[in-house]
Amino acid sequence: MASPFTSVLIANRGEIAVRIERACLELGLRPVLIASEADRAGRPSPAAGGPLSIGPSAPGRSYLNQAALLLAARVTGAEAVHPGYGFLSENADFAEAVEEAGLVFIGPPASAIRTMGDKIAAKRAMMAAGVPCVPGPGEPLPEDAGAVRAIAEEIGYPVIVKAAGGGGGRGMRVVRESAEVADAIAITREEARRAFGKPELYMEKFLEHPRHVEFQVLCDNHGNAVWVGHRDCSVQRRHQKVVEEAPAPGIAPELAERIGARCAEACRQIGYRGVGTFEFLYENGEFYFIEMNTRLQVEHPVTEMTAGVDLVHEQLRVAQGEVLETGRFAGTAQGHAFECRINAEDPATFVASPGLITDVHFPSGPGVRVDSHVSAGYRVSPYYDSLIAKLIVHAPTRAEAIGRMQVALAQTRIEGIATNLPLHERIFADPDFVRGCVDIHHLEKRLREEPRGEA
Ligand code: ADP
Repeated sequence: MASPFTSVLIANRGEIAVRIERACLELGLRPVLIASEADRAGRPSPAAGGPLSIGPSAPGRSYLNQAALLLAARVTGAEAVHPGYGFLSENADFAEAVEEAGLVFIGPPASAIRTMGDKIAAKRAMMAAGVPCVPGPGEPLPEDAGAVRAIAEEIGYPVIVKAAGGGGGRGMRVVRESAEVADAIAITREEARRAFGKPELYMEKFLEHPRHVEFQVLCDNHGNAVWVGHRDCSVQRRHQKVVEEAPAPGIAPELAERIGARCAEACRQIGYRGVGTFEFLYENGEFYFIEMNTRLQVEHPVTEMTAGVDLVHEQLRVAQGEVLETGRFAGTAQGHAFECRINAEDPATFVASPGLITDVHFPSGPGVRVDSHVSAGYRVSPYYDSLIAKLIVHAPTRAEAIGRMQVALAQTRIEGIATNLPLHERIFADPDFVRGCVDIHHLEKRLREEPRGEA
């Protein structure tokens, strides 16, 4: 069982470090913030004090440097480590090293991170728990090309070949006919070996027009697990989420209840702890599991707004060994929430646009939330992800939430660098998006049709 702690090292940066810092303070915990050289220099007033210096700007030498992070925890007397998202948040070895140093890792046990990090193992665990998966065996593909073709025929074309160790949308290849199988396997296997150090591949049905719908779960250390609503994250570009909403529109409540209960059951079976997300493709009224993220998600605020839950508080509490009051999470979503990821990038070319923010104005008012670490005088670094703010709105209905986001976007002003605000304005003016339930290809299709939004 986790030992209680009073201070937390936040092994991350940007908006999520600010988000976790706030939650720690609210619960009376001492947050310990760290920063790389670029992040220390980027602050509007880089005077003495502030976050502890963790190393040079390159992530490998700072936010991914496990020894430096453990040393930072030791010198500051931090007793727990919150990994945030990205960086080391899904690294089982890091979770293990934190625990071995006598600290509490705010996340699941290393064994659960390891299982879910291997897509074949994850699929098998889900099948065992009765979570619906994409048709296809939860087994590595054999070497023999004939045997692989037989599997593809059994599933039915088109199929997708995926690397067990894949991530970030890499290590996947769609195969539409039997003549393409051998080449697809050879190329993906080589890619998997090089990029992920793991040659195992598996195969499943390729779904042509799915939506991305995911379920949030929350578990304690005593065998309690609940699901806390679903989200739609179908508005994507190059597999990167751009806009998210909760609840996912048009999902029958009984179906959601059934899938959510299966996710909670899977958590109990794998001995999960903390927050997690089950990602599904949703097509023709059916859910198909694709992967589990064993950490807090960027889009967690839309669930917080509609479920009335502070997920970071819950993470900290279950890490303290508290028992989850499962009855608190039984309610259905209240109203509707959207999140826009505001990135420092050119809205037409999507090229990153680091630099100095000379002025910034964020919207406010009822049902408007901004999670951000930037202010006037902040320098956006080229070293990291370009996310500079998350604009979140909540309203009683989806239509009202759309209206609220349109106004909030119009009232947001960020000067000095280019941002994707115009892209968000286009999305919230797109009749198909406004109607709801667009698939994961919708945004890219729109961008191909009207590259600069002139139409
Ligand atoms: P990663 O870990 O790289 O994000 P995922 O398994 O989550 O990999 O898949 C990433 C994306 O690839 C999905 O969001 C979806 O767009 C696409 N994809 C994955 N599996 C399938 C499938 N069986 N059918 C159609 N698209 C798929």
